[in-house]
Amino acid sequence: MRSAAVVLVLLLTACSGPAISTGASSTVTMEETVASDGADPEDTPSTTARVVEYTDGSSGIGDSLFPELGNGGYDVEHYALDLVFDGEALSGSAELTITATQPIRSFRLELTGLNVTGVTVDGLSASYDLADELTVYPSVPIDEGKTVTLDVKYHGIPRSVPNVAGRFPVGWHQSVDGWFALSEPAGADTWFPSNNHPLDKATLSLRITVPPGLEAVSSGSLLEVEATEQGTAYLWDSNEPIAPYLIALAIGVFDREESTSVGGVPIINYFDEDVGEAERRLFARQGEMLDFFAGIFGPYPFDEYGAIVLETTEVPAALETQTRSTFGTQILVLGEAVVAHELSHQWVGDSVSVADWGDIWLNEGFATYSDWLWLEHTQGNAALEKAVTEAYARLSGPGPGGFSSTQEGLAQSKEGFPPPGSPPADDLFNLSVYQRGGLTLHALRLHLGDEPFFGVLKDWATEHRYGNASTDDFLELVERSGDTRARSLVEEWIFAKDLPPIDELNLPPPE
Ligand SMILES: [Zn+2]
Repeated sequence: MRSAAVVLVLLLTACSGPAISTGASSTVTMEETVASDGADPEDTPSTTARVVEYTDGSSGIGDSLFPELGNGGYDVEHYALDLVFDGEALSGSAELTITATQPIRSFRLELTGLNVTGVTVDGLSASYDLADELTVYPSVPIDEGKTVTLDVKYHGIPRSVPNVAGRFPVGWHQSVDGWFALSEPAGADTWFPSNNHPLDKATLSLRITVPPGLEAVSSGSLLEVEATEQGTAYLWDSNEPIAPYLIALAIGVFDREESTSVGGVPIINYFDEDVGEAERRLFARQGEMLDFFAGIFGPYPFDEYGAIVLETTEVPAALETQTRSTFGTQILVLGEAVVAHELSHQWVGDSVSVADWGDIWLNEGFATYSDWLWLEHTQGNAALEKAVTEAYARLSGPGPGGFSSTQEGLAQSKEGFPPPGSPPADDLFNLSVYQRGGLTLHALRLHLGDEPFFGVLKDWATEHRYGNASTDDFLELVERSGDTRARSLVEEWIFAKDLPPIDELNLPPPE
């Protein structure tokens, strides 16, 4: 993601390996009768009672920065949302296919600011409690490994919520003449119930009915448009796993523009009808970008791509919503770089997601370096070195050259930015995760040489395609290059307090 507050830049993370913990504060047990096989001399099956302990799924998935985000005890396989938006209120149902990862007697989902009118599990009415989260008590406890269908009926007037990671509110927003979701890191719960963490990705079908004359645009492929009594229903389908915060949703009046990259990826853009020609032209080279980044990271991971461009006045940001990045017009002051940035995130951030928000540099450092690679591709190596040198200068000095998302962040920049591998939770999208993250990759490239370095980038996107990965996973990959110094070089770049030198570029310059 990327945002501009002065000229603000931003975005996020992932790591790997489900670390779903259980909050076993209370338990229920059930005896299960198990026939033993064979060992009885009389050949009469004996029985032994095995006690299964059912616990409450935890209220967090185990994130190091945001322990309350996500939930434990289950994994979502699929979201099927069927919603009606009337221009103010949202109502409908969320049908989730979930698999228990432990024996559970209750589990939680994130849902904020909306009302629930009924919950069923496999068609049986379930009791529930809606406070800071939605807690579901199935009428029958769910065995580990069992897959069930959860249905939540809900309604309300969706609104944005304060951002746990600093900066502007997240979730459901209004554009100048429409509505949209911008959810990183945790705003998806303002419009549907979810396991709200990138560690739990799932496939999605979204059917949403909007008032006559309006369109609804989302992630994935548009399968169906149908006139209904309430307006027009749009059915969108994402058949690759998607993290809740990466689900695009925009409602308004759009000009749809369709093309195909030379490499064969369909590109379908949705421009708010008031977005001007100069702004639309920034998106003209997306086909070349898709093919260029496919050369870097491997084949484009999804069926189609495109941009949603909205007229905004309060949210100076863009987000790499999966298959269709979302841009507010305010962010377009950053030019073509922001278009390349969000597009590259489809590989690094969307297909390969962080498993922990503390690893956000894996998203933002990689997307920042992708901007620079596009610059090098289109304007030559000197343009890349200029971007690197400017980023180094920005990160080296005490403010006022530094910029960040919050006043605290500005204060922090006077003491130097935190290293990208240790971002503060309240200023997750600080400059360092972007630009020092990008410099980390350039320093690694200069150290390893182009061929091994680009091999690392391609392996990264290939080995963790559609999954989650961590900083440790990246360090292990770097170590596999066989270069004895490479791992410690990256560790210094992402964890050391002081900005390391780049000797090959004479940075920092001699006093
Ligand atoms: Zn980004």
